[in-house]
Amino acid sequence: MALAFDEFGRPFIILREQEKKSRLRGLDAQKANIAAAKAVARILRTSLGPKGMDKMLQSPDGDVTITNDGATILEQMDVDNQIAKLMVELSRSQDYEIGDGTTGVVVMAGSLLEQAEKLLERGIHRSGLLRVMRWHRGLPVNRCKRELAEIAVKAVLAVADLERKDVNLDLIKVEGKVGGKLEDTELIYGIVVDKDMSHPQMPKRIENAKIAILTCPFEPPKPKTKHKVDIDTVEKFQTLREQEQKYFDEMVQKCKDAGATLVICQWGFDDEANHLLMNRNLPAVRWVGGVELELIAIATGGRIVPRFQELTPEKLGKAGLVREKSFGTTKDRMLYIEKCANSRAVTIFIRGGNKMMIEETKRSLHDALCVARNLIRNNSIVYGGGSAEIACSVAVEAAADRHPGVEQYAIRSFADALDAVPLALAENSGLSPIDTLTADNNPHCGIDCNDVGTTDMKEQNVFETLIGKQQQILLATQVVKMILKIDDVISPSEY
Ligand code: ADP
Repeated sequence: MALAFDEFGRPFIILREQEKKSRLRGLDAQKANIAAAKAVARILRTSLGPKGMDKMLQSPDGDVTITNDGATILEQMDVDNQIAKLMVELSRSQDYEIGDGTTGVVVMAGSLLEQAEKLLERGIHRSGLLRVMRWHRGLPVNRCKRELAEIAVKAVLAVADLERKDVNLDLIKVEGKVGGKLEDTELIYGIVVDKDMSHPQMPKRIENAKIAILTCPFEPPKPKTKHKVDIDTVEKFQTLREQEQKYFDEMVQKCKDAGATLVICQWGFDDEANHLLMNRNLPAVRWVGGVELELIAIATGGRIVPRFQELTPEKLGKAGLVREKSFGTTKDRMLYIEKCANSRAVTIFIRGGNKMMIEETKRSLHDALCVARNLIRNNSIVYGGGSAEIACSVAVEAAADRHPGVEQYAIRSFADALDAVPLALAENSGLSPIDTLTADNNPHCGIDCNDVGTTDMKEQNVFETLIGKQQQILLATQVVKMILKIDDVISPSEY
């Protein structure tokens, strides 16, 4: 360490590179990394499955989230260890690709690493392990899970393109409002916007609406440069007012000429314009966001219009019914745009006692929508409750018997690692893991988490998508390979 001075005479300290950094090599590096990854997996392990526990997370600004969704837990955990971050990435990738299985994938990776650690301690070199891995190629919203699942399936089927076997989930808008019960959650074949008519005396119900969807403001044009208007007489003021009114009038007239019976605007407008719209019998909705405008345009078959001059009858959106709905005794009102020209845009409108509940329902629905979409893309399934993992484990174990050398240990360890998911499910459901894993030859045999009375997951109708399970194994294996390849960690040391 040395003290030096810069050109302004300010002192600063020079630290030599080595002094700033700590360094772990070889087995120590691998063990430290495995420990970090395992720590993350351990946190998620108790959240796996239908009987998994929720986690309560508090953000630095005090917001509280209660969830058992793996990706969300990891997203909100403030991890600064690089390897732990890799696990966060892992869960995110599963979420991105499949949208479900985000807890399981981390549990699986943690278990693979645990097995790898044992082998490393026994002196089996990592390259052997890596070779084996290369060779080897799931609601706290329990109360209404059936209703919510049905809503998810109906929503996906409403927007699915069955010919192309794909689903654009962007066409499903998920909106939530605090109040009411979870049971009041509904699927609307149309768009729900968290807005109301701009004036309380405008009609609350418009049938066969022709909608002008506008991104131009309802206001007189603003001069581009700064200018000054001297209004020193009442006459001048009157003229200005009249001119302004004329502008508004023309805008309203253009909408009317095109045949619009409702205008939906991206921007706001002042009281005067609002009054005029009301007087001229043209209901309006203001401050509608860009994404919503686009969805409204898709649903009603209309075009987004950036200038009043461009408004033509063909560009108007059509909806059989537009209505304003108020909730309970509150002032809360929402706009329902239904019976649209193009029914392929739907809204799931979630109700619930508090914001947290609505957020968690949104996450659960996201998973359910993804599963339904995945099944449209590829309808192959595997049975859940850990049965797929047990069946794979049995098959890998059998394969190990055919490999004489040291590799068989690594292959067996891989088989053991696959047992992590059924073991965690059993533990989380209060079942004895030993009994549960003494599987018979039935490949559908898994963990009876909900105490239904049979371990046959086919009978229980517990299944997962094949692509989801494949992706879990693939991603977990990839990240473990990556972690095991690291044998030198250089990091800034802590002071
Ligand atoms: P993930 O975020 O990984 O999807 P979940 O907490 O949703 O995690 O748990 C999914 C696991 O729980 C899967 O292994 C799935 O097969 C299992 N599972 C879900 N429902 C049941 C059930 N009713 N009985 C047994 N296992 C179930």
